[in-house]
Amino acid sequence: MTTDVMQIEFRQTEYSRIQEVDFNNLPFGKHFSDHMFVADFMDGQWVNQQVVPFDNFTLSPALSSLHYGQSIFEGMKAYKNDAGEVLMFRPLDNLNRMNESARRMCMATLSEDVFIGGLEALLRIDADWVPTAPGSSLYIRPYMFATDVFLGVSPSKSYRFCIFTCPVGTYYTKPPKVKVETEYIRAAEGGVGYAKCAGNYAGSMYPTMLAQQAGYDQLLWTDAKEHKYFEESGTMNVMFVIDGKLVTPALSDTTLKGITRDSILQIARSMNIEVEERRVSVEEVIGGIESGQLTEAFGAGTAVMVSPFSVIGYQGKDYMLAENPAGTSIAVRIKNYMTDIRTGKTDDVFGWVYKV
Ligand SMILES: *Cc1c(COP(=O)(O)O)cnc(C)c1O
Repeated sequence: MTTDVMQIEFRQTEYSRIQEVDFNNLPFGKHFSDHMFVADFMDGQWVNQQVVPFDNFTLSPALSSLHYGQSIFEGMKAYKNDAGEVLMFRPLDNLNRMNESARRMCMATLSEDVFIGGLEALLRIDADWVPTAPGSSLYIRPYMFATDVFLGVSPSKSYRFCIFTCPVGTYYTKPPKVKVETEYIRAAEGGVGYAKCAGNYAGSMYPTMLAQQAGYDQLLWTDAKEHKYFEESGTMNVMFVIDGKLVTPALSDTTLKGITRDSILQIARSMNIEVEERRVSVEEVIGGIESGQLTEAFGAGTAVMVSPFSVIGYQGKDYMLAENPAGTSIAVRIKNYMTDIRTGKTDDVFGWVYKV
């Protein structure tokens, strides 16, 4: 415990909605747990920390974040171990990344006290909402938005930080078909691609919709200059297995610094799998599929964990990725090990698990 819980005000719901939720059928992001954590940034500090029933906010039509987009978020997951204790995965990394996003968006940063203290308070009161079935978890959404009531384009002086949670099952029911995007871009050098800011996702929706109309599930973004090198995919980093090596685009200011990505790379190294973080060209990947040297291509992110692609579409042609024989997939091996760490089934040798 890192915080003085006395400074958080609690108002417990009089009516829990947990009986209304079918925990055997959990669509992503539709069921919200009973409570939320809220804090406001005013006069240079975080005040009014409270855990209250999940409910609507009352907002001014002139709220600056609605106009100019000072809005950032995080995504993380909690699990229960066999003893029923609630476990978070690398929450301090989410705090650090949220603060990096906040600095880029000229927003207030959060202290460990507010962020971890808020998470702990919320997860304790809503511990019953953490699912236990294999493949399910409690998705946690911390986010922050500007609350000045002012129409000038300048950084807001006040912010709201909120955390709510959703019990979720698996994200994709079958391996997604992805399309290499060679017209639109997600991020350019010097831009905000590395920040988990709301606008990045708004900008991606139109090209993603076009890909979906063409029969794909998601996009593979390429670099803004030449459309030659892979960046990432939707809300996932991307990885490939080429000649038995785990290959992934190096991080830059145009890619989100995924915590799942980092965890996978650390696990791979510990399993003596060779890892390469470098530029990965579309040509190399398509050529690798054709020659058989590329054996796996997958997305990595908190929502999906690890998501093997079934098809990569490029310049009007679909390149199929064969399913690996059972037990031979590097992605599946790493994913299973990571899941065992997250759920407390194996030793946390990396020091990633945070017990609530
Ligand atoms: C959140 C996100 C990721 C994955 O990050 P994780 O920390 O692994 O969840 C990757 N790319 C984008 C664009 C994202 O928004």
